[in-house]
Amino acid sequence: NSSGLIVSFGEMLIDFVPTVSGVSLAEAPGFLKAPGGAPANVAIAVTRLGGKAAFVGKLGDDEFGHMLAGILKKNNVIADGINFDQGARTALAFVTLRSDGEREFMFYRNPSADMLLKPEELNLELIRSAKVFHYGSISLIVEPCRSAHLKAMQVARDAGALLSYDPNLRLPLWPSPEEAREQILSIWNQADLIKVSDVELEFLTGSDKIDDASAMSLWHPNLKLLLVTLGEKGCNYYTKNFRGHVDAYHVNAVDTTGAGDSFVGALLCKLVDDHSLIEDEGRLREVLKYANACGAITTTKKGAIPALPAHPEVLSIMNA
Ligand code: ADP
Repeated sequence: NSSGLIVSFGEMLIDFVPTVSGVSLAEAPGFLKAPGGAPANVAIAVTRLGGKAAFVGKLGDDEFGHMLAGILKKNNVIADGINFDQGARTALAFVTLRSDGEREFMFYRNPSADMLLKPEELNLELIRSAKVFHYGSISLIVEPCRSAHLKAMQVARDAGALLSYDPNLRLPLWPSPEEAREQILSIWNQADLIKVSDVELEFLTGSDKIDDASAMSLWHPNLKLLLVTLGEKGCNYYTKNFRGHVDAYHVNAVDTTGAGDSFVGALLCKLVDDHSLIEDEGRLREVLKYANACGAITTTKKGAIPALPAHPEVLSIMNA
């Protein structure tokens, strides 16, 4: 297809998820291997919807790394930006499904391959061809991956791409909450578009209010669009000239993993060929309805990648 390229930068990993909740992985009768990692989910969300996406990141040169690269390729994600580390292994997450529905994670990341991507290993030609550059990885906090992130952001911006940031806060992965806040805010002003969840908004502002004032306290002068996703309540949007709310679709949610990534992928698909739609509230609201529909569908199936919808499915819930 002829749409512009969305480059998604960050980590891809495998979640090992027990088949039953309320027990640790070690006590579970079985487990599923679920490929994930927010930036990789976003790339696949885009291609499922018919857009063009590339993933940039590093995997271990091991069975898991090659399996993940294979999943990206099978989903038509351009894989020319993937490096394989000869020493470190692919990141893994061991999940516990608590009986209250929350998830607990234990990670293999000491360090995992994704954290070891070096600036000189970046496929700059690929990054320069991006119309949208999306990032937001936990690997942003460690060298050499931090420098690789900063360089990729600069190269993409210089080539005219829209910069899209999702902090993907997973607090247990950070050395401390203070450091998480500081690091996230240290790159805040570079993005054109930022998507945060309600939980991230509370964390970053240090307030338990999820309202316009707290969202606007995160506004920066170069920002074009700030989105706050609210789970089953939909999303709020903020631009220089207007702000508003778009309701979610009612669905029977079974697993919300990947809903935010699905939402972001859908939004970027619509923005990639027309950055100016951010300035038109009517058109932006249509796009956010579409993104909400994608997020909603993703919650109706288990896992992230298997649950990401194709375009016709999205239209069918929007027209229902
Ligand atoms: P994140 O996964 O980043 O925490 P959210 O859970 O807010 O993000 O989900 C992103 C979007 O997906 C929401 O804005 C909403 O449109 C949709 N969504 C998420 N959970 C539900 C739900 N239970 N019912 C309907 N839509 C949902």
